[in-house]
Amino acid sequence: MTPHHTPLLIDGNAVAAQIKADIALTVRRHVAEGHRPPCLATLLVGHDGGSELYVRNKIRACRSCGITSIELQFDADITEGELLREIERLNADESIDGFIVQLPLPSHIDEHRVVEAIDPRKDVDGFHPMNVGRMALGLPAFVSATPLGILTLLRHYSIPTAGKKCVVMGRSNIVGKPMAHLLLERNATVTVCHSHTRDLSAKMRAADVVVCATGRAKAYGAACFAPGQIVIDVGMNVDAAGALCGDVDFAAVEPIVDAITPVPRGVGGVTTQVLLDHVVQAALKATA
Ligand code: NDP
Repeated sequence: MTPHHTPLLIDGNAVAAQIKADIALTVRRHVAEGHRPPCLATLLVGHDGGSELYVRNKIRACRSCGITSIELQFDADITEGELLREIERLNADESIDGFIVQLPLPSHIDEHRVVEAIDPRKDVDGFHPMNVGRMALGLPAFVSATPLGILTLLRHYSIPTAGKKCVVMGRSNIVGKPMAHLLLERNATVTVCHSHTRDLSAKMRAADVVVCATGRAKAYGAACFAPGQIVIDVGMNVDAAGALCGDVDFAAVEPIVDAITPVPRGVGGVTTQVLLDHVVQAALKATA
């Protein structure tokens, strides 16, 4: 792509719709072969509004492609032991192909212990150390849905990563770190930036692809970007006016770069579809 052209809007919703159609078709075929529909269970602890909304969206997405969903909600004072027993029950339940524990959990519960209790074959979020380790080794695994969704977007738009300089802003276990691994696996030269990184904007400007996942509303403006770049904005933040926005100041950056994901209609929808795809994969594996 040349620097002087109309920037490409990376339409996450359009890509998500295509993935959804594929998933729905696979589910229909699976059921036509005499199997029960794939089934996702969601575990939600407490009544955090954001978490409830995320879970609701996942359940709605399941239903719209024929995947069964079971919603389990627990009071915030559930003990760690009780939650672990619930996970054991889901691990053993053959009518459930995969399940997710919506994070964050209340502070009296050890998230790591909970995630480690999930059977890796049912860990459709890809957070279990077994899946994270396999992903880091380049072995087949359930991989965190957001970075995998980003790769899907890059592939869909034929955006190359081999030999490219990729800057990943953020090093969380669910976005930044797996993103860096996946890009490295695809032969990119990867720089991971975080809150201790110096000279951020210079590092960003020098990249071919910038993935922003820091959770800072509209924090990265024109000074951080250069013509010819691909910008993936993972951020899901609320701006001063109360509207959903990304980490990137879209209005300032969109005219500069070659391609950019909007927020909303960018990474988010693809992330959900990747999760559903994992549920279907788990169901197919269980009946193979
Ligand atoms: P975390 O809060 O877990 O991680 C944020 C990362 O950003 C940390 O590594 C942190 O560095 C880094 N960071 C914070 N401030 C700065 C700064 N000033 N300069 C450089 N790096 C900084 O967030 P998540 O990874 O969970 O999520 C990131 C964003 O993506 C959020 O807005 C979240 O809502 C969104 N999100 C969107 C999804 C989607 O499907 N669209 C899915 C998941 C998340 P340090 O490690 O040093 O603290």
